[in-house]
Amino acid sequence: MKKVLVTGGLGFIGSEAVICLIENGYEPVIIDNLFNAKVAVLDRIETITHFRPKFYEVDATDEEATEKVFAENEIDAVIHFAGYKAVGESVEKPLEYYENNLESLIVIAKCMKRHNVKNIIFSSSATVYGVPSRVPLYESDPVAEATNPYGETKVMIERILKDLQKADPTLNVGILRYFNPIGGHPSGLLGEDPNGIPNNLLPYVSQVAIGKLKCLKIFGDDYPTVDGTGVRDYIHVVDLAEGHVATLKKLEENPGYVVYNLGTGKGTSVLELVHAYEKANGVKIPYVIAPRRAGDVAENYADCEKAAKELHWRAKFTIEDACRDAYNFQKNNPEGIK
Ligand code: UDP
Repeated sequence: MKKVLVTGGLGFIGSEAVICLIENGYEPVIIDNLFNAKVAVLDRIETITHFRPKFYEVDATDEEATEKVFAENEIDAVIHFAGYKAVGESVEKPLEYYENNLESLIVIAKCMKRHNVKNIIFSSSATVYGVPSRVPLYESDPVAEATNPYGETKVMIERILKDLQKADPTLNVGILRYFNPIGGHPSGLLGEDPNGIPNNLLPYVSQVAIGKLKCLKIFGDDYPTVDGTGVRDYIHVVDLAEGHVATLKKLEENPGYVVYNLGTGKGTSVLELVHAYEKANGVKIPYVIAPRRAGDVAENYADCEKAAKELHWRAKFTIEDACRDAYNFQKNNPEGIK
C-alpha cells in the first residue's frame, strides 16, 4: 500500500496525517475544497517534509472531479477527513450537514468501487457514543442516537461503511473515533486555524493567550467532576495522525471492519487544561465561570487498550506538549494561516 488519497488533507488533522504518511514512506494525494483550510498549508507541509504532495482543489461531493483524481492516480487507500464539523452550526443547518457529509462519503465509496480500491479509514468521533452512562468509553459500547446532526452524520457513515463491508468482504474499513484533538505541529507551522470565533476550548484559550480574545468563558463549574468543570480526553494531533498510519498498517492484514478509539485514556478538566496551558507557556489565561453549554456532557474519555493491543499505538505527547504546540502556532500565526 503506497498511494493514499487524503480528503480534507489541508485541514487541522488531515495536514498532520499527510506529514505522518510522508514520514512513513507513503505517498499522499490530497483533495480539499479549501472551505476550512488554506492552500498555504501545502507550502508548510513541504517545508516540514521536503516533499510536495499532489494537491487537487476538489470538493469530495463533486463526483466528476473526484472520479478524475481516482483515474489519474493509482490509489491504494483512502483516508476520509473532509466534512463539516461544527456541532452548533449543524443544529442550525441540518440539511447542509447531511447533504455534504453523506454525499462526500457516497461519492468516495462509488469511486473506490469503480477503481477497485479496498481500503478506507474514516474520521469518526466520540460523539457516536451519545451521552455516556459511564466512562471510559469502549469500542464495544453501543452507538447511540447522536445529540446533533453533525454527530448523526458520523453515526450514519459508520453504518454505511459497515453495510458496504458486509456486501464486499474484501473491503477493509477502519473507523477511528477521535476524542478531543488539540495542539499543532511542533514546528509551530501548523495548528488549529478556525474561521471566526473558535467554538472549541483550546483554540479559544490560545486566542486569549495572545490577547486576541479577552477572557475565556468556562461553561459550567457544577458538573459532578474533579473540580466541577467538564472533563474530556484531549489528544495531541500528532499522536492522532500517527494513529492513522498505524491503522493503515492494520488494514494491510485484511481485517475487514475495525473500530478504534483514538484518545489518551485520561480525562482532563477545563480548569486543569487552563492551568497546564499557563504553566507550559508562562502566560495567564483570564477566565470567568459561565452557565453550562447546551448539549455538553460532564465527562468523556476513552479506553484506548484496543488500539494499543491491535495497532501497537499509544498517544505519547502530554497535555503540556499540546498546550505548548498550540501556543507556538498561535503566536507565530496570530491571524491564522494566510
Ligand atoms: N469549553 C469551555 N469554554 C469554551 C469552549 C469549551 O468551557 O469556550 C468546555 C466545554 O464545555 C467542554 C470542553 O471545554 O467541557 C471541551 O469543549 P470543546 O468544544 O472543545 O469539545 P467537545 O468535547 O464539546 O467536543
